[in-house]
Amino acid sequence: MGDTNNHVEDLWFPDGNIIIRVGERVGAERVGERVCRVYKGFFATQSPVLADMLSTLQTNGRDTVGGIPVVTFPDEREDVLHWLKAMLVPGYFDMDRNRIDPDKLLAVLRLSHKYDVHALRRRSLEYLAGFLPVDYQDFQSKHYAHNVMSRLDNAPLDFYPPIYAIAREIGALWLIPGIIYKMQNIMSGKTSMLDAIHRLPMPLNASFVKRMDKVSRLITRCFPSSSFISIRQSCPRSPIDYYDEYDSDAEPSCGTQWYDLDFWLQRLHADPLRFYGRDGGAWAGGADMEEEEGMCDGCCKAMRARVERGCAKFWDELPKCLGLPAWKHLLAAKAKDLSNID
Ligand SMILES: [Zn+2]
Repeated sequence: MGDTNNHVEDLWFPDGNIIIRVGERVGAERVGERVCRVYKGFFATQSPVLADMLSTLQTNGRDTVGGIPVVTFPDEREDVLHWLKAMLVPGYFDMDRNRIDPDKLLAVLRLSHKYDVHALRRRSLEYLAGFLPVDYQDFQSKHYAHNVMSRLDNAPLDFYPPIYAIAREIGALWLIPGIIYKMQNIMSGKTSMLDAIHRLPMPLNASFVKRMDKVSRLITRCFPSSSFISIRQSCPRSPIDYYDEYDSDAEPSCGTQWYDLDFWLQRLHADPLRFYGRDGGAWAGGADMEEEEGMCDGCCKAMRARVERGCAKFWDELPKCLGLPAWKHLLAAKAKDLSNID
């Protein structure tokens, strides 16, 4: 096989009957080319598309090395290597949900979709479903409350735009509401997300910016300041007048004034679904803010109920706001994507 330096170690089986060439081609030169020697029969069983591709290869044609047919994938080298290893190297695509490798995951998803390798496409989507819920109440649970990728702690801004792009590319639209919601969390109060969005291919980036704007308007509509102001104005405690302030037993009505309405709303609007977490998954600090605001039990209860109603409304309207099919259709698409049947 001539030069062995370009053999991919994990993907070179001496008795393999097909050579896969990956790497960029610049004119007649191949830059960074790598070769794998694998089993044709195995690939043919993985997908009808691959079976078709491989069945047309000639063993005596021009593109052979030592009598072994060569197939070239036109895709990015690193993507192809991740994908081939996911198929051939045991355990390579097993990932702890707390330590997902985004490059590996997205490469495997993209190519499994393109070449119709159903089992790997499904597994990739299962990983994504593990941190992009389709039910707003799941956002509030502990399971989803923590960052699922250690790398996310460092580079959360770069993570979601490529997932958004691929979800659109492969038609896994049920992932979009979760992606948009998470990005809206990260973006609130930050402009650096815009850089990541501008790296999306056109016209995806323009439509994306427009959608984020619509989502933020939907949030304002579902959680309007007026309804929270009016809850406290009808506080069950009675207002106290100037003289009562010296009466240590008297507690002022919550409607008297907000300590910091703007801050409260800012926190709520940044992450409404998790403002009041459940199962200890509190995130955006609704409970702390109740204490800071010194709200009575009655007002707290009414505020929580109002936020809960807002969450249900927001989540229900989110697909339409994003130009997506209704939840009923998105959930059916998810079930189909994650099913075992081809
Ligand atoms: Zn009150």
